[in-house]
Amino acid sequence: MVVVGAGFAGLRTLHTFRERGLDVAVIEANAGLGGVWYVNRYPGARCDVESYDYSLSFDPDLEQEWRWSERYATQPEILRYVEHVADRFDLRRDVHLDTRMTRSTYDEQAHRWHVETDDGDWSARYLVMATGQLSVTKQPQLQGQEDFRGRILHTGAWPHEHVDMTGRRVGVIGTGSSGTQLVPVLAEQASHLTVFQRTPNYSIPANNAPITDEQDAEVKATYPERRERARRSPSGLGFKPNKQSAREVAEDDRRALYEQQWTTAGFGFLLAYYDLMLDERANDTAADFIRAKIAEKVDDPTTAERLMPRGYPFGAKRPPVDSGYFETFNRDDVDLVDMRETPLERITEHGIRTTAGEVELDTIVFATGFDAMTGALLKPEIVGRDGLTLREHWNAGPRTYLGVGVAGFPNLFVIAGPGSPSLLSNVLLSIEAHVDWIAGLLDHAAEQGADEVEASGQAEADWVAHVNERAEATLYPRAASYYMGAEVPGKPQVFMPYVGGVRGYRRVLEKVVADDYDGFRFT
Ligand code: FAD
Repeated sequence: MVVVGAGFAGLRTLHTFRERGLDVAVIEANAGLGGVWYVNRYPGARCDVESYDYSLSFDPDLEQEWRWSERYATQPEILRYVEHVADRFDLRRDVHLDTRMTRSTYDEQAHRWHVETDDGDWSARYLVMATGQLSVTKQPQLQGQEDFRGRILHTGAWPHEHVDMTGRRVGVIGTGSSGTQLVPVLAEQASHLTVFQRTPNYSIPANNAPITDEQDAEVKATYPERRERARRSPSGLGFKPNKQSAREVAEDDRRALYEQQWTTAGFGFLLAYYDLMLDERANDTAADFIRAKIAEKVDDPTTAERLMPRGYPFGAKRPPVDSGYFETFNRDDVDLVDMRETPLERITEHGIRTTAGEVELDTIVFATGFDAMTGALLKPEIVGRDGLTLREHWNAGPRTYLGVGVAGFPNLFVIAGPGSPSLLSNVLLSIEAHVDWIAGLLDHAAEQGADEVEASGQAEADWVAHVNERAEATLYPRAASYYMGAEVPGKPQVFMPYVGGVRGYRRVLEKVVADDYDGFRFT
């Protein structure tokens, strides 16, 4: 088996299949393990799912011995965890770093993948794409970029050495999750910070804090139950979803619940009422609440108004989970430029020019996000049956069966990609669910004496229709989000992840198993 990617997904796949006696090689383009956690070294980078949930669940001893220091771990801590996992399970010996898969071709006679990399070729029966959802950065090409005399950085490709921002005038372009995490920390360091905002975000406070020994012991005493709760929840977090509608409760009760969720739930705020992503008026109650919070936090009413998201539902973009983002705009040394009012014209020698004039800068940080979900799958050339490429097959948007298999691409599997809960969920939980499910699928193939496992065209078409139908019944497609492919010009506008929830999706997978892996062909 060749696994592409050595983030959490690739490492978990390696461990699981090596344990089952397969010969596994992991190919990783970066110089180190950890995927997004290897490259996103920007100040303030941390997980938005609680550390105890954003961690691997397959080994109870690992769960017990690792001690998270904060409710939401920082990037260095998560990377240390990845390194620990790699050492503890002796994973490094099968990982080939600095090796990029450029092309893979399916050999229909031999039933094998021929995998080409920039450092030699491989042949394998199975090809697993553990290439991540947010591993390809969007590098804006703004007019005049080459003229800028200062430094340009991207949050998703942050330098490994310390970047000293002391005394620097810094501009940040982008206010998604990365920008929201970065801004409060940069404001502490820079002499002046200017934030260039295109779309305001419904950011939820992390209420981050160190984890005490008592809290740690409490979680560890009931870890299996916590994991099971997460697997049975809509988004893979340990929260119990509220079965009430936001519209059927009294306004005071609703406000009280929102207040309570605001200070405890983080990303789980989305689950405050079951219909927040189903009913526009229910969603409005949460959106209004968040806008009121922004008005409370930000002293200057004009700035507050500019920071308030409008025109798209709360949750339709993955909400950032921040630590003091809105409050940062109360500082005298932080400015907000609303690019809807004063669009960016060009980068100049000395900074950024908008229609309102030039902002002089020493450093520009692009927090402009990623070619999400399909970027890394479509960058290399993957050639399946009859010379069909994945790019051709997906030219109108990604097509998968269950998010796992692709018709016409036998023995190829995708981890936590389009057509599965993926970025709508705690991705680590979704990764582990996929790896375990594929293990069962390949066991079944072995029992059948099959050389090939392939999703049927019909099963794929039905699943794509189901994914679209479920998405259309929600408010999710109503934002220009990375779920929709909206962030990359020319990308098909299709809602890519499965909105059926972690629990619902798990039921679907269980049913497919009960039906002898219905929808897959074993030959
Ligand atoms: P990745 O970590 O993206 O790893 C994929 C690897 O594949 C990369 O190392 C890449 O170099 C490699 N690769 C890709 N293409 C090739 C190729 N052709 N050849 C060789 N190697 C290749 N999710 C959450 O659920 N909760 C969070 O709190 C959270 N926080 C995040 C914070 C940041 C800053 C980012 C960017 C993402 C975050 N995510 C979060 C989403 C994140 O994508 C997943 O949680 C998870 O880390 C994905 O792991 P992965 O192994 O699937 O992919």
